[in-house]
Amino acid sequence: MEMCKSVYEKIIEHARRETPLEACGYLGGKGKTVIEAYCLTNIDQSREHFSFDPKEQFNAVLTMRSKKQLAVAVYHSHPVTPARPSQEDIRLAFDPEIINVIVSLAAQEPEVNAFRIVKGDVTEEPLVVIEGLCEEPENRERRNGT
Ligand SMILES: [Zn+2]
Repeated sequence: MEMCKSVYEKIIEHARRETPLEACGYLGGKGKTVIEAYCLTNIDQSREHFSFDPKEQFNAVLTMRSKKQLAVAVYHSHPVTPARPSQEDIRLAFDPEIINVIVSLAAQEPEVNAFRIVKGDVTEEPLVVIEGLCEEPENRERRNGT
């Protein structure tokens, strides 16, 4: 998957802001390109797991729909553990179509990894951070004349 640099920075910033609790949210975009982060409240207020605030989740879905974006991924933070899905993340992964992005603040430098979780099987999804302007893939292609 691809992620705009501004989104990458926004989710790390969100993770830092919520520490020591887990931060969470949606990543909206087109295809496999994430162009916008939707920071949501973790109503569990927990250091080890998260649940979206249902009202905020609903609003984020409506906003994505109005912008013709898809929920490409969900993200959450691991304040003190590595950027790999926990047993609970694997157990609770509800949608095999949606990519799970984990922001870890365990090391000195933040680490962001993406995974697909299908029926308990975890596969790492290569994550490419796009420098420069955050825009939709079709605009980029149009400008490049393809
Ligand atoms: Zn987790």
